[in-house]
Amino acid sequence: MSEAPRPDPSAPCPTCGGRASLGRGNPARPFCSTRCKWVDLGRWLDGTYRVPAEDEDDLPPPGPPPADDHAAHLR
Ligand SMILES: [Zn+2]
Repeated sequence: MSEAPRPDPSAPCPTCGGRASLGRGNPARPFCSTRCKWVDLGRWLDGTYRVPAEDEDDLPPPGPPPADDHAAHLR
């Protein structure tokens, strides 16, 4: 009587694989906790989920710099 059978929808946490409640009581859903939510966000920001590109960081500027019409006007 004290334990009402309320099935709590849950799914594996994308971060740790633990049980994550999908109910209203879990503000961090679909993660199991706010911590896991931030860990996942951190992965995105860290580039873990980024599509690997070749030497994207050291790309030289493509071509000459664009003409600055405003600067020419002020001269
Ligand atoms: Zn988790």
